[in-house]
Amino acid sequence: MLRRVDLRPSAAEQEPSFTSGHRLRQVLPRAEMDVDAAIAAVTPVIEGVRDRGYPAAREATARFDGVDLADPRVPAAAITDALATLDPAVRAALEESIRRARIVHRKQRRPTVEVQVVAGGTVTEKWIPVDRVGLYVPGGLAVYPSSVVMNVVPAQEAGVPSLVVCSPPQKEFGSLPHPTILAACALLGVEEVYAIGGAQAIALMAYGDSGEADGHSAGRVLIEPVDVVTGPGNIYVAAAKRVLRGVIGIDAEAGPTEIAILADASADPAHVAADLISQAEHDPMAASVLVTDSAELADAVDAEVSRQVQITKHTDRVRTALSGPQSATVLVGDLEQGLQVVNAYAAEHLEVITVDARKWAERVRSAGCIFVGASSPVSLGDYCAGSNHVLPTGCTARHASGLSVQSFLKGVHLVEYDHEALVEVSAHVIALADAEDLPAHGAAVKVRLA
Ligand code: NAD
Repeated sequence: MLRRVDLRPSAAEQEPSFTSGHRLRQVLPRAEMDVDAAIAAVTPVIEGVRDRGYPAAREATARFDGVDLADPRVPAAAITDALATLDPAVRAALEESIRRARIVHRKQRRPTVEVQVVAGGTVTEKWIPVDRVGLYVPGGLAVYPSSVVMNVVPAQEAGVPSLVVCSPPQKEFGSLPHPTILAACALLGVEEVYAIGGAQAIALMAYGDSGEADGHSAGRVLIEPVDVVTGPGNIYVAAAKRVLRGVIGIDAEAGPTEIAILADASADPAHVAADLISQAEHDPMAASVLVTDSAELADAVDAEVSRQVQITKHTDRVRTALSGPQSATVLVGDLEQGLQVVNAYAAEHLEVITVDARKWAERVRSAGCIFVGASSPVSLGDYCAGSNHVLPTGCTARHASGLSVQSFLKGVHLVEYDHEALVEVSAHVIALADAEDLPAHGAAVKVRLA
């Protein structure tokens, strides 16, 4: 079922230098539509929300979600009712997910660091939470109460005072977000929730709606703008975050899911196939990539994928994702070459299922999250490992990190020198100011020397 990309030295003789990441990326599987392409689709929606506020978002919701909502704010009663009627097993699972996420995220907060540079001169780095954040929780093809946990816990642990959650309206649930999403908000004490999805949600959080344009909300502020938007979503959500970066801060581009598995002959093909399928069920655009030095394993995984795809629930979505250009089995000569491939691919999720898995995992340089060994599947990290599941996609794991407490903090330096310490360094400051032909900079020091 998975197409093959054969990079074994004998097969790649005409292509001798598959060692550079850039070169490798040209032959590795990739999606037909990337964030760049989706930007054209979302830009008119974003401009509409910027210029006209919620009415433009309302039109987009009607077009893409088939729902017309005069007011997207979710009533408080709907949030408390959702928790009251939540299946006890799901409630227990969400509570455990929250508990484990808090254990991990609480440890992430960087302490204030005060450095004495010279006698009488200190630089202190402190971390200040942003004032207000918008947390996106997807809800198109699937609904993600787990993403409420993954967004809200780090924001709360960072000490963000004001949180808003947006998630698409669901026709079958009275045009509100899915009840399990609302219940997760209630468990975490989130009260400001809007039934809106896609690029229009990201734009509405970025620009807010003061209710001033054309009186559509009778002068009432519909939603205050936020400083940072985080959260996963489909290609349109990822594109909107890229367009609006600067107006708001964003976390990584956490678009359609990707899994890469680095496996050798020791891996169980049934496990590998199950994990490839588990991520393919997110989205027809999801990417599932097996990287292996074992042609026998590749054949056995193909057989398992064919068997398991027939009995999985979202068969069509999975088949589309696995047969798309973004999914493949990459055959490599050995695990050293496999390591080069997974580093070049920079997957959102990377599983390492090999002999000495930890040793190989330690050498990975680019991945959103690394799952080490046969008993650490991505599904564990999606829900209950304690790690965060909002992770960089589309090769952005080369430079970006998953969501964390740090995503919601600003690092600020406090510079505090006394008179003697300033005098001691003044000649250097004046020399550099003169070298840059900015004599007023030097003068601001000289005036203090008298
Ligand atoms: P979603 O909430 O991201 O997207 C649904 C919204 O997309 C709808 O509200 C609609 O307004 C908009 N939309 C639909 N078609 C559109 C179009 N043609 N043009 C413009 N807007 C359109 O929900 P989803 O679609 O289920 O996607 C969830 C995504 O989140 C999946 O791709 C999944 O893989 C991804 N995900 C990523 C991570 C991560 O950390 N990278 C984690 C979880 C989920």
